[in-house]
Amino acid sequence: MAMERTLVLFKPDAVHRGLMGRILGRFEEKGLKVVGLKMRVFERALLEQHYAVHKERPFYANLVSYMGSGPVVALALEGKGAIEVVRKLMGKTNSAQAEPGTIRGDFGMSFSNNLVHGSDSPEAAAKELALFFGGAGELVEWTPADLAWVYSVKEELA
Ligand code: UDP
Ligand code: MG
Repeated sequence: MAMERTLVLFKPDAVHRGLMGRILGRFEEKGLKVVGLKMRVFERALLEQHYAVHKERPFYANLVSYMGSGPVVALALEGKGAIEVVRKLMGKTNSAQAEPGTIRGDFGMSFSNNLVHGSDSPEAAAKELALFFGGAGELVEWTPADLAWVYSVKEELA
């Protein structure tokens, strides 16, 4: 399992509902490393690019306007197999059907207002990280003090 980076967004519903801390806690507790963090009301053009794969879908216009309607937190997370790990922590897209224990399963009821975004492939992660954290110095290189306890040094960090 390769060390990966992935993009997570806390959508405006998560921010309005005061769930930023609890959602960030899920990722931190799991052992994912935060390498980028910012809060913005993102421009429409950036959100359109971010969701370009869904351009032809009926929910696209609402999705872009909802994502631009309020503050969004963008996170860059790093870890072994981080892309899949994050998707599992998020749960199914429709929050009402997401498993208990997942972020969407525990905190939401909606298909569209589903609290979080996570990149779904290495290609998407690379594109999305460049969009949201493409500026110089926006991603932070650091080694967590507990890294050697989160992973097996001999088997996974060698
Ligand atoms: N979405 C929606 N209606 C749908 C499908 C998706 O409103 O029928 C929204 C929802 O907010 C979702 C986003 O569009 O998170 C992107 O859809 P995708 O299928 O990529 O889901 P995700 O990868 O976020 O689970
Ligand atoms: Mg998606």
